[in-house]
Amino acid sequence: MTDFRVGLGFDSHRTGEGRPLILAGVRIDSPFGLVGHSDADIVLHALTDAILGAVGRGDIGELYPNTDPANKDRDSRDFIDGALAAADDAGGWKVVNTDVTIFAERPHLGKWKPAMQASIAEMLGIEQDRVNVKAKTGEGVDAVGRGEAMSCQVVVLMSRDNDF
Ligand code: MG
Repeated sequence: MTDFRVGLGFDSHRTGEGRPLILAGVRIDSPFGLVGHSDADIVLHALTDAILGAVGRGDIGELYPNTDPANKDRDSRDFIDGALAAADDAGGWKVVNTDVTIFAERPHLGKWKPAMQASIAEMLGIEQDRVNVKAKTGEGVDAVGRGEAMSCQVVVLMSRDNDF
């Protein structure tokens, strides 16, 4: 028998000049980036929370407080590694698939989707067709629409075999 769990994650960061734009671990060509204590990768932060949520292990802030100097400018891949380790520890949970929506007025992210999907698939150790990345603009509305912020929503399905 197989058990399933679903998890939801959300993150947003302010945009800022002089910062790199890193989404899903991919460095995106952009005249501005995202401001944050770590590398401000909204995709990996939302994905980390989705994994932790699915297996009932709290959230990214509990595992990696932004008051800890060790997390400053940290590569967010570390957070994914930590979440996957927590999922394994919580009972051998593995990622089945994930669906990601990025909200950004600019730059245009369409051409970066395949690279982001490949990056996420490699981090999670799953086939690329189990990872979907969507990009939407803010339609000129709210902080995202004005280009002041970007945000990301992630849903993830986890499973474990229960044959014992
Ligand atoms: Mg964040």
